[in-house]
Amino acid sequence: MAATPRPTVGFIGLGNMGSGMTRNLQEAGFPLLVTDIRRESADTLVEGGALWADSAADVAAGSDLVITMLPTPRHVSEVVNGPRGILAGIADGGTWIDMSTSVPEVADRVRKEEARRGLRILDAPVSGMAVGASTGMLQIFVGGTADDVARVRPVLEAMGDPERILHVGANGAGYAVKLMINQLWFSHLVATAEVMAIGVKAGVDLAVLRDSLIASPANSTFVERDVLSILQNGDYDEGFAIALACKDLGLSIDLARSVGVPAELSSLVEQIYRRARASYGDNAGEMTPFRLYEDLIGRELRL
Ligand code: NAD
Repeated sequence: MAATPRPTVGFIGLGNMGSGMTRNLQEAGFPLLVTDIRRESADTLVEGGALWADSAADVAAGSDLVITMLPTPRHVSEVVNGPRGILAGIADGGTWIDMSTSVPEVADRVRKEEARRGLRILDAPVSGMAVGASTGMLQIFVGGTADDVARVRPVLEAMGDPERILHVGANGAGYAVKLMINQLWFSHLVATAEVMAIGVKAGVDLAVLRDSLIASPANSTFVERDVLSILQNGDYDEGFAIALACKDLGLSIDLARSVGVPAELSSLVEQIYRRARASYGDNAGEMTPFRLYEDLIGRELRL
């Protein structure tokens, strides 16, 4: 019996994340129709059989579902609502999945057309860094209806860890969960940097300090696993630019404001991130706030 043909996936945004995600979709057998403002970002995919389109409208018109993986809400809005954007090309009944870290407001115009044109929208932002995108092991937090999530699951499973593709609620819930994950992770990073800088300056050996933290109630995945990229390799993760980390922190604080919850700690973490961005540049890695503390004590924290 012939295998059921895979739907054609349209993909817009072939950067640090989108490049790995599309490679995995291609390897899973999904025909791809792609675009980006950087034509060269599609070279390898096109060699592997993907088709290039000149606009988001053409991507949407020629695919069964369209995915966006773009830097900020402004970029998502341009790609969706612009004159050659997704809304200008998508067929009635079409599906759009935004996997960017963004906010529900961007989808408002699409949502207005949702009922009239039968469009289906999902927010499905991800965690797992560029390495998770290239290994197909992303964690994906999906907002939308249960029916729509079930329908697109095979596509998501080509990019993420099936055990960690979570349907977290209605439209917008995926964005909210993702922003809270990043907020907490960035807070862990700043708190860990501060504690390690103080402890080492007080004369404790870094390895002993870390082992003690791991053995204590203050342990975290950050102390146990994530900080090792800095402590062992001096790697501050340039796969995620600090400019985008600052964007996420800003969106997180906007969300807190919109729901009326004070966010004192998050605001402080955001300011520390902005200081690191100003010191080391927009393209410095998301973990460079750690460097601020290393600079303060005048030595790198390495095992
Ligand atoms: P990136 O800047 O590396 O890639 C974005 C891509 O979008 C680029 O190739 C850019 O050319 C393209 N683009 C921008 N405007 C466009 C337009 N108008 N039309 C077509 N293409 C356009 O960003 P990234 O690191 O891949 O992140 C993408 C999203 O994923 C962001 O929202 C980010 O917050 C989120 N995210 C990133 C990571 C990470 O580790 N990098 C992890 C989780 C989530």
